[in-house]
Amino acid sequence: MDLSVNTKRRNLLKVIVLGDSGVGKTSLMNQYVYNKFSPRYKATIGADFVTKELQIDDKLVTLQIWDTAGQERFQSLGAAFYRGADCCVLVYDVNVLKSFESLHNWREEFLKQANPADPETFPFILIGNKLDIDGGNSRVVLERQAREWCASRGNMPYFETSAKEHYNIDEAFLCVAKVGLANEHQQDIYFQGISETVSEVEQRGGCAC
Ligand code: GDP
Ligand code: MG
Repeated sequence: MDLSVNTKRRNLLKVIVLGDSGVGKTSLMNQYVYNKFSPRYKATIGADFVTKELQIDDKLVTLQIWDTAGQERFQSLGAAFYRGADCCVLVYDVNVLKSFESLHNWREEFLKQANPADPETFPFILIGNKLDIDGGNSRVVLERQAREWCASRGNMPYFETSAKEHYNIDEAFLCVAKVGLANEHQQDIYFQGISETVSEVEQRGGCAC
């Protein structure tokens, strides 16, 4: 069995970021990867994904983080966007109730489109962003409400961030990498199981080509 393929797969994680338009998805990624924040609203254009390398224990992990190009308004992101995701980051704005209420739909949409092997254990992470606005006075979703939402969905990890002030973003994506790695490992075991089955057939001369 060729383990090198599995080892390589294990270190590249596809992460997709979902949530209502305007919650700060692109801003979070720009702060995390480029240490930049723009106060002006720009519809996301350009690359499908950005990458960032990080070290976890003795492993070098590359996060391939996929952003929407503004199509999230129409919920028409296409199969390529979801395919092979290792972790899904859901984002809402703590100052906008509707963005919190939409989370359920985003999670459902992800599970429908990405169709992961085990929907119950697939790793999601929730981010409540724009913590800085008005010193927290315009906040409408309480931390407790968000944590309850996460608790009832398989104890989804939860982070509160400010893309503007670069607050808690590294911590959130470190968690993304860790849960993504753990999930990848599960898949490798699953794939190894399949490849052993295939080679058994080959040894028995099951293939005539
Ligand atoms: P997206 O549509 O989810 O990708 O959202 P954007 O990243 O484009 O952000 C929408 C708007 O919110 C932009 O004007 C950003 O500058 C602003 N924004 C994003 N994150 C924050 C934040 O943490 N704090 C503040 N004050 N503004 C933010
Ligand atoms: Mg965007």
